[in-house]
Amino acid sequence: MVYPRIEVDIIKIKENTEKMVSECKKRQIKVVGVTKLFCGNKKIAKALVDSKVDILGDSRIENLKKLSSFKLPKMLIRLPMISKVKEIVKYSDIALVSEIDSIKKISKEAFKTNKEYKIILMVDLGDLREGIYFEDEIKETIKEILKFKNINLIGIGTNLTCFGGVIPTYSNLSRLVDIKKSIEEKFNLRLDIISGGNSGTISLFNKKIPKEINQLRLGASLSLGIGLNDKPIRGLNNDTFKLILEIVKIKYEKEKIIGICISIDGIKVNDLTPFDKSISVIDVNNDYLFIDITRPNKRYKVGDKIKFLISYGATLVAMTSKYVFKDIK
Ligand SMILES: *Cc1c(COP(=O)(O)O)cnc(C)c1O
Repeated sequence: MVYPRIEVDIIKIKENTEKMVSECKKRQIKVVGVTKLFCGNKKIAKALVDSKVDILGDSRIENLKKLSSFKLPKMLIRLPMISKVKEIVKYSDIALVSEIDSIKKISKEAFKTNKEYKIILMVDLGDLREGIYFEDEIKETIKEILKFKNINLIGIGTNLTCFGGVIPTYSNLSRLVDIKKSIEEKFNLRLDIISGGNSGTISLFNKKIPKEINQLRLGASLSLGIGLNDKPIRGLNNDTFKLILEIVKIKYEKEKIIGICISIDGIKVNDLTPFDKSISVIDVNNDYLFIDITRPNKRYKVGDKIKFLISYGATLVAMTSKYVFKDIK
């Protein structure tokens, strides 16, 4: 066995996905299964596909390229880079957009390759991220979009809970619905999709969500069973990704026994929750992780393995690190 190691429980991810797909279906919401947390790994993506997500989404076109063999439409969920337009048009079918210059480039490439490319225009509801904030500007942009060849504006969308920390509410999502209606009226067209955010929006399921929201882009909820503010979502599995580190030294310090494990780059103390509740994480740097093993009844020794539940950020770090062995089953 190779360490550091991340164990991925596909069955639990599949259970999460089936549950979320069914909850969304009850509300006529289509699910974009977001694969960025596991870098477009095909085995895990297959669990999402088998659980009947409608679209596969990723922030990197390289990851979507890996998923080409799946028949589902692919969505690029991070604003497109002009330098990658060729790959974007080739390996994805839908993009979240907000800049007229990049849409223009996509249109040119789509025309050249004879593809009808779909776009969802992003609206900023206060989170200061990828969308357009002012309604005038949204309409100006749409006026331009409608002139482009091979571009099909299928809807509008938003992303919340990221940069500005704005949380999804009935009221801010209703604003999105109003904007959609006003666009339809002004331009005499139909927008099929209102993409109402990420796993954070699931928090509205027990309250009230505008019925017009008909798409969510779900990553963390499917992969880690977490939603708004990384809080566990009831009924979903959280123990889907486990990090396993090896002890390379035991130190006796005053009254304490400290275990030193080989760590991984970019991980923080709060990212890790040891399965053995009597262990606590003291400190971490790029080389080593220090754990307090004074309390456990078991005498840990050099070579022992320590298992942790990990945060969203740490999962991303571990999955993208070439030094971490991925055990996907
Ligand atoms: C990552 C991402 C998502 C998925 O977010 P989760 O919180 O993982 O569900 C949705 N939309 C965009 C634009 C993203 O970048």
